[in-house]
Amino acid sequence: MTSGGRAALEPTALEPTPLEPWVLRRAGATDMEGLRRHQLRALRETVARARRRSRFYADRLAAVEPGDIANLDDVARLPFTTADDVRREGMRLLCVSPGAVARVVTLLTSGTTGEPKRIHFSAADQELTVDFFEHGMSVLAGPRDRVLILLPGERPGGVGELLARGLERLGATPLPHGPVGDVDAALDVLEAERASVVVGIPVQVLALVRRGVSRGRALRLASVLLSTDHVPRAIVSTLERDWDCRVFNHYGTTEMGLGGGVECAAHAGLHLREADLLFEVVDPLSGVPLPPGQEGEVVFSTLTREAMPLIRYRTGDLSSFVPGPCPCGSRLRLLSTVRSRRGDVAVLVGGERLRLADLDEALFGVDDVLDFRARLGADGEGEWLAVELLCEGGSAGQGGGGAARQRRAAAALARVPAVAAAGAAGRLRVDVGAAVRPWSSGDGTGKRTIRDERPQETETR
Ligand SMILES: [Zn+2]
Repeated sequence: MTSGGRAALEPTALEPTPLEPWVLRRAGATDMEGLRRHQLRALRETVARARRRSRFYADRLAAVEPGDIANLDDVARLPFTTADDVRREGMRLLCVSPGAVARVVTLLTSGTTGEPKRIHFSAADQELTVDFFEHGMSVLAGPRDRVLILLPGERPGGVGELLARGLERLGATPLPHGPVGDVDAALDVLEAERASVVVGIPVQVLALVRRGVSRGRALRLASVLLSTDHVPRAIVSTLERDWDCRVFNHYGTTEMGLGGGVECAAHAGLHLREADLLFEVVDPLSGVPLPPGQEGEVVFSTLTREAMPLIRYRTGDLSSFVPGPCPCGSRLRLLSTVRSRRGDVAVLVGGERLRLADLDEALFGVDDVLDFRARLGADGEGEWLAVELLCEGGSAGQGGGGAARQRRAAAALARVPAVAAAGAAGRLRVDVGAAVRPWSSGDGTGKRTIRDERPQETETR
């Protein structure tokens, strides 16, 4: 299934990510000091323009003068922008007239106000995204590749369409498909179109791999880019093994302009779109910026956004900057692969921290598991964790090895540190069951969570 690109793409020695020369060029810089000067200049301009043009930022930044930002560390003196601000303030964030908006992306996510988030982009904003997609994809695809796009947004300005435009500029052949609804049909397309690269949502690409294996189809791809959701290591290992491919992680949210950063061949973390975005990692509680190596919440400021700049936007994602240079030799900053969000941790009665990311690694490592739901509850006998498995070849409880699979899943769960500790103390019961009916992650916005159904208000974050 490869286009012959795999051997050529596999370097004998690592080369710096192709994002570095692109970022420097976009910043008009020749070295990292030049890039930091560009970021400082662009941050000051963004603040000045947002104060002038956006009614929201005119209020929020009323006390800030652009001259207050003497160096990049001074970004910490600016107030944060939150998801609730975006929901509540809507058009008041705009820095252009409504007529200059080329695309509005509506995000139906849970929030305290119940309002959706609407992110506005100008044509120039979209052009910057296409430019990033072209150069970001050059890390894992070349002109001979045929790239199956399993992302939503085939309409003009949607993420799938912007990615297709970026790939065309790269000389590759985009094959827009959309999210995986019918797994067999998507597998047929993958084979019939002789795709060498797949871009998709982790659990949906996992479903393709598992179905291919269960149907005895031997597929080989050059590379896979996983996007939209956090990427468990267990899913990466399965893809590498069963498709004999290289797997890359892309990190980007709609608020970031759809693209944020992408791994290089060293797979040591994400290189970021630093000419267009200034990233920070802050303590989730105090908001104080954290040094490399310490995990906190990812915060970014747009540096070149026209329609709706965001200043110190809190993503809710948890990660850390990797200390030292990337093994690929690039001097760009390196952000650890993002594996969880604030709120993806439940604190058990004994103080153990049950992390969704740990459940991901345990359960996606079990053969045939496609997805899961987890609920945490409490009754007179203590706390319980109920996990519902969605599996290839039927639900986990029905014949065909279902019982054995449930036992393997229960054994994997028992090795999760919080489960092991609370279980050994007799404070947590674990139940693994079959999904009553399949569910689909649809456009990929339905994120896995640990649903906390315990009666009293218990601290979770
Ligand atoms: Zn690198």
